[in-house]
Amino acid sequence: MRVRGRWLLVVAAAAAFWAAAQSAVGAVPALRAVQAHDRLLVIAPHPDDESLCCGGLIDQARRAGAQVSIVWVTSGDGFRWDAMVVQRRLRVRGQGLTALARTRMVEAEAAAGLLRVPRERQFFLGYPDRGILPLVLDYYYYDTAWRSRYTGNSAVVYEEALSPGSAYTGADLERDLTQVLDQVRPTLVLAPSPQDTHPDHRAVGILAHRLLSVRGEAANLRFWIVHGGRGWPAPRAFRPDRPQTIAPRGRGMEWEMLALDAASLAVKREAVEAHVTQARVMRRVMLSHVRRTELFSRTPVPPGSPDCLGALPCEFELEPASEEAAF
Ligand SMILES: [Zn+2]
Repeated sequence: MRVRGRWLLVVAAAAAFWAAAQSAVGAVPALRAVQAHDRLLVIAPHPDDESLCCGGLIDQARRAGAQVSIVWVTSGDGFRWDAMVVQRRLRVRGQGLTALARTRMVEAEAAAGLLRVPRERQFFLGYPDRGILPLVLDYYYYDTAWRSRYTGNSAVVYEEALSPGSAYTGADLERDLTQVLDQVRPTLVLAPSPQDTHPDHRAVGILAHRLLSVRGEAANLRFWIVHGGRGWPAPRAFRPDRPQTIAPRGRGMEWEMLALDAASLAVKREAVEAHVTQARVMRRVMLSHVRRTELFSRTPVPPGSPDCLGALPCEFELEPASEEAAF
């Protein structure tokens, strides 16, 4: 009896914990329904972010008949671990990283195809991986373009990019992103939060917030986090039965939730795994973003902590780099 009583206590405690977790999730309001007349724009710093952040939302939007476009700000040409694994070389620079980026663009096209985003609504800008924060903060209007220490390039080299030959400056990047916004005329924009710990994500969030605010369209923005703080999302595993939790970096933000059905979860998983070179290095981390909910915030940063939106170093940038900021 005593053993059975203890078991009942354990079960009751687990049920109470689960109920509390559910009500915490339930307290997050729903993202507004996407309708056939909507035009979504997903702003992805790197190939794979579009699927990790928003694969389920993209699938639901397409099923609702909405138009979906994706713009990739970089092509992922600064990720040495990835290049080392794929090309089986210890030191990969220059041409090797440019070749990797071309592979990653092909994989991004495949992922977008699985999400039924047509080729004419896929935009590659080709700016430097690991270089967006300096462009946005320090090399915005200067005549001297930023030079990537990974590839050695200081201009967009990919012929499939929107404006090949553009200088690595904030001004050229702003011009290209504005061209995409003018062409898509989005009713809903999904951008990384400046709270995301990857510097490219932070920078793209700052730029998106700045551009949409100037256009008077900031209300159309929703922010997502992929690098949310050490150990998140836990567990580092494919657990589509679980809801996504609010990232440590995203506490205090105004989150909204989208519930994914089995069909959207299956498509999202396929899209994530279409990024074969990334999945070879960090498949489990990537799949930990395939959960039965996706979270988007109405606000770019928590109230009272606007530092990540500005030019001053965000507090996490003062910390040593972790392996988390790798993709
Ligand atoms: Zn990324």
